[in-house]
Amino acid sequence: MIRALRQLLVVLWWAGCAFSATQPNILLITVDTTRADRMGFLGSKRGLTPNLDALAKQGIAFSRAYSQYPLTVPSHATILSGTYPQFHRVVDFGLPLVKSIPYLPDILHQNGYQTAAFVAATALDPNSGWVPGFARGFDTYDADFSGDQADRYQNVEHRADFVVAHAWSWIKEHQKDPFFAWVHLYDPHEPYDPPEPFKTRFASDPYDGEIAFADSQLGVLFDDLRAAGLYDNTLIAVMSDHGEAFGEHGEFTHGIFLYDETIHVPLLFKMPKNQFGGQTLATRVGLVDVAPTILDQAKIAIPKEVQGQSLLPLMKPADPGSSAVAALSKRPAYSESDYSHRDFGWSSLRSLRDDKYLFVEAPRKELYDQSADPDAKQNLAEKSPAVTQTLSSRLAAFRGKTANTSKAGNSDVDPQLVQKLAALGYVGGGRANEPPGAEMNGADPKDKIDIFNHVEKALLAGAQGEAQKEVDLLLELYKKDPNVEVVDRNLGDTYLRMGKFDEALPVLRKAEELNPEMSQTHYQIGQALLNLGDLHGAKKELQAAIDKSTLMNLKYASTLHFFLAGIERRLGEKEEAFKELRLSLELEPEDYTTNLTLGRLLALDGNPAMGVPYLQKAAKLDPNSVEPHVFLSDAYEQLGRQMEADAQRTEAERLQAKQNPN
Ligand SMILES: [Zn+2]
Repeated sequence: MIRALRQLLVVLWWAGCAFSATQPNILLITVDTTRADRMGFLGSKRGLTPNLDALAKQGIAFSRAYSQYPLTVPSHATILSGTYPQFHRVVDFGLPLVKSIPYLPDILHQNGYQTAAFVAATALDPNSGWVPGFARGFDTYDADFSGDQADRYQNVEHRADFVVAHAWSWIKEHQKDPFFAWVHLYDPHEPYDPPEPFKTRFASDPYDGEIAFADSQLGVLFDDLRAAGLYDNTLIAVMSDHGEAFGEHGEFTHGIFLYDETIHVPLLFKMPKNQFGGQTLATRVGLVDVAPTILDQAKIAIPKEVQGQSLLPLMKPADPGSSAVAALSKRPAYSESDYSHRDFGWSSLRSLRDDKYLFVEAPRKELYDQSADPDAKQNLAEKSPAVTQTLSSRLAAFRGKTANTSKAGNSDVDPQLVQKLAALGYVGGGRANEPPGAEMNGADPKDKIDIFNHVEKALLAGAQGEAQKEVDLLLELYKKDPNVEVVDRNLGDTYLRMGKFDEALPVLRKAEELNPEMSQTHYQIGQALLNLGDLHGAKKELQAAIDKSTLMNLKYASTLHFFLAGIERRLGEKEEAFKELRLSLELEPEDYTTNLTLGRLLALDGNPAMGVPYLQKAAKLDPNSVEPHVFLSDAYEQLGRQMEADAQRTEAERLQAKQNPN
């Protein structure tokens, strides 16, 4: 009896040991566009976040956490890599996160984690071409925006309940090994449009309603974890990628300025077993610290390229006076945005929160004493030139220390491909024609913010299907400033979508004049000309688009060659068309449409045997599609392989019946 009991104790002891040695599950939650001052656990009295407040009671909240970039894609690149924007260089849509940049999902995957992403916005969908490289290390990347193209909640964003349901159905199937799940909620991003009952309850402040709805859905997820016994051993990290401005400094939404309304973000960790729980820490930290903190807690080595630091020493109450804590307590918080430069041609902005100051590097520098002036209303730069100069130098030194000095970004592209494409006029690097430092030239965004707000309003109208309203708003802008390239580009794009090619053309020509280096503009002009029947003109523009484009976005480059192939074909240049299609396929070998088109054209031109493999690949890439099987059937028939032709025809009919059950 006693022996049996002792055996049982030994078993329990070992079981306990094994359990504590198990790596924790990791749930990384990013709630887009959420201001720190809306969080109950950071002092808000609005009552929006009961579930996050409860989580904070068991975790560690940071009351002074800062985003490194007030835009979704660059900020998530910082969160997931633990590096600054000047290092990872994903400062715009379509710029790749290259393999030399450390990446939390990849590191966790290599350390035995099952990994999955559940993203709520097409902006974070690697298949959209907007975030190349983000899928690295993920077993599953849930980002399907192919639904009804007229429904915003199917083709642009998913609501929190949808994302949480997807995340939970994956988590419950992956409980055996430790899991890493990134759950991204987009609700608080404009348009502010919460579902009921939040719509009614927050009718006067729908932005708050979106936050309350997102919180309620996180409550569902936390309850699911608890019910499955997973909550305790799961590290839950919650943050926002950036905040939202409501005119405090003239800006609405986010992206240009670097004041607290868009840079101060919620940040909260709930550790396994609620370790170190119940603290709110006022040390200044950044989203750049999230990845190293998670790796540290999971006892995985932090790569040397990671620039943020583990916040664990701050959380461990045993050692408040240690040198690690002292070093962490003195760090500045760096932020930047190139949006004003890249899209509007104005100066970029950079900021440093250091000592008690917020310093903003701009054509007209800004200095605020955050202890006396937390809302940043009094610019002290002229009154305190010495402090301003010191902080300006510190910021420059910080950038010098943290910038990525390796040659711009093609390191994960097949070198043979690079060579081949260099011969066709491709260059590497985003804004290859600008000398270094040029991004700080141009107008001060402070003087131009009305234009930004106006463009945002117009684009939102367009995104909500109100094309004419978008056009009217953009035309109004001409009166304020006729030389903003982004206005022409968007106006031209909207006209294209409306099928108004005559009106699109002059607007796009003006955009081309303002910035002849912009590949996209040449592409758009090409589309307009094609639709106006000017095939030769369209061909010339497509070639210019290819010349001006870079290898940074393979999907885009592939699209250009595909489009040019269509023009060559219509001009009767069959060989040129095949050449362009093959180039397109080299850039994006897994593209369904290119495989289908190449296979079909080869068969039509008398090479069915050469076409078959492409058609087979297309069938594999989209197993529900009827077309590849119809074309395969034709090709087999040409080859006299009647049985295979019949089999393909049957398969096509089966798929067709499945799609139209009536
Ligand atoms: Zn965002």
